[in-house]
Amino acid sequence: MPPQTRRGANARDKLREYRRKRDFASTPEPTGGARTRTVKRKAKVKLPTFCVQKHLASHLHYDFRLEHKGVLLSWAVPKGPSLNPKDKRLAMQTEDHPLDYGEFEGVIPEGYGAGIVVLWDRGTWEPEVDDVDRAIEKGDLKFKLNGVKLKGSWVLVRTRGYSTGGPSRSWLLIKHRDDWAGDVDVTELAPRSVKSNRDFAEILAADEPEVWESHRPGGGGGAGGKLMQEIIAEAAKLRMGRQSKPRKRAPARAKIRK
Ligand code: MN
Repeated sequence: MPPQTRRGANARDKLREYRRKRDFASTPEPTGGARTRTVKRKAKVKLPTFCVQKHLASHLHYDFRLEHKGVLLSWAVPKGPSLNPKDKRLAMQTEDHPLDYGEFEGVIPEGYGAGIVVLWDRGTWEPEVDDVDRAIEKGDLKFKLNGVKLKGSWVLVRTRGYSTGGPSRSWLLIKHRDDWAGDVDVTELAPRSVKSNRDFAEILAADEPEVWESHRPGGGGGAGGKLMQEIIAEAAKLRMGRQSKPRKRAPARAKIRK
């Protein structure tokens, strides 16, 4: 039954045919949606967000994520971003993540990506290309970051080669030469969270760390290696320090230690 013959059909139903015939990405015509009707074309645009999550899983890496069309496009950068334009940092493209993941910091207890996540940087980003989807397809995405630690102009370029069933998943993350470039090691200079000012050990030592429940089956392997052992030991020390403080038992502990 065509919508116009239905009694009481709402505006949405009535406009179905209108919308069906139009591509609102390429026409300036109003969509007819109540919410968008009053929006001026020059209205201030809210910039999409970006974040970098320092992630200690089976290997330490930095997950670089750009908000685009309702998801977070994601790359895992083993060495982390560099402010030095001479550095080309390998960035392996990973699966899109949900938007709310961008605020996550805490412990992933098991399964894929098990380990600790530090929200290392966040802010907004602005493409320096007309069409982000096309830039990604071409493998050359230029953009500006406005984060706490990362700012200015950057580029992600896909490397040549093909992985099974599609274009290469490996990209390079490179800083463009501008006022925000430099040769300090930003991952070493500013290792802590922009959300909590904590690093791995403090997050692990927290009484109730935030836990991200992964609903995907395991497969990525749990966190391991020497770095993880060191962080667990450090976290244990932090917890011990906290528990013993109110009791003021330093002399007794000194005794136990011989
Ligand atoms: Mn990760």
